[in-house]
Amino acid sequence: MSPFEYIEPQTLEEALDALARYGDEAKLIAGGTGLVNLMKQRLVQPAYLIGLRRLAQTEGLAEIDQIGPPGSAQALRLGALCTHRALEASPLVQTAVPVLAETFGRVASIRIRSVATLGGALAHADPNQDPPPSLIVLDARVCLRSNHGQREVGIAEFFVDYYETVLEPAEMLTAVIVPPLPANSGTSFLKFLPQTQDDYATVAVAARLTLDADRIVQVRVALGAAGATPLRASVVEAALQGQQPTPAIIRDAAALVAEAVDPSDDFRGSADYKRDMAVVFVERALDHALGRARAGGGQG
Ligand SMILES: Cc1cc2nc3c(=O)[nH]c(=O)nc-3n(C[C@H](O)[C@H](O)[C@H](O)COP(=O)(O)OP(=O)(O)OC[C@H]3O[C@@H](n4cnc5c(N)ncnc54)[C@H](O)[C@@H]3O)c2cc1C
Repeated sequence: MSPFEYIEPQTLEEALDALARYGDEAKLIAGGTGLVNLMKQRLVQPAYLIGLRRLAQTEGLAEIDQIGPPGSAQALRLGALCTHRALEASPLVQTAVPVLAETFGRVASIRIRSVATLGGALAHADPNQDPPPSLIVLDARVCLRSNHGQREVGIAEFFVDYYETVLEPAEMLTAVIVPPLPANSGTSFLKFLPQTQDDYATVAVAARLTLDADRIVQVRVALGAAGATPLRASVVEAALQGQQPTPAIIRDAAALVAEAVDPSDDFRGSADYKRDMAVVFVERALDHALGRARAGGGQG
């Protein structure tokens, strides 16, 4: 690993000032589970590491809050320094968006989940990661801050390429906003990992269906481990929009994902195998989400 200077800001303002001062020469470090591996392989060699650990206590960046008018369905605001374990175990997340708690519970091992953070997971932008597809189907937005101000970006637009996002060098991801699920919605996250339970997915699929009188009025499908970024399967969504969801309609729509994905050959399977599994798991995720939408309405 190349030598670096470690800086530990006490406030968000200090962190943003350090990012502005050192620009491309600096890297934020949260849980360190992604970055340290890249540094050991010398794929990333920052001269300055800006540690975010203290901001979890001083700036509320590890908090999970409900936002919006009381009495109405509220959005969740998830601080960027929430660990995967905290999100998996949060009663607020489990109740409002159970699929998100389920998704964070499927990442790696409990040791990794206890230190890896939400902000780190998204900024790392490895397309094989689990949280992005679920956040995409939930229409989540990320909050990005620099010492010039802040902006919100839809999660699907946040990912640009392999390990690349829209984050500017002086920006930090501070929170993720998850809107409330519409009534009569069902969601699903399925991770196909034939090797060990703590591996990355061979393919991962998240789906959301919203029904009105058993017709699909809103649908989202997103995949991980299926291309250079997490993918939204718009072609599948278009085939389902407005339809009455019969098994044949779901099967035919799922088959369309084969053209939308662009997986690579690796030790988890050939590209052709992963493409076939994407079709299988999109159909299963849609079935699962449909069952939940019909059973619970708003849950799942
Ligand atoms: C053994 C192992 C198994 C894994 N298995 C899985 C798996 O099954 N599924 C899965 O989804 N993931 C898996 N991962 C990946 C893991 O989830 C990520 O490494 C982790 O989420 C990164 O979070 P972190 O807080 O450790 O980020 P860090 O390693 O601290 O940072 C990662 C990147 O994000 C940047 N960054 C961090 N925080 C911010 C912020 N707030 N704003 C802007 N930039 C920021 C850093 O500068 C760095 O570029 C695995 C990792 C390991 C080591």
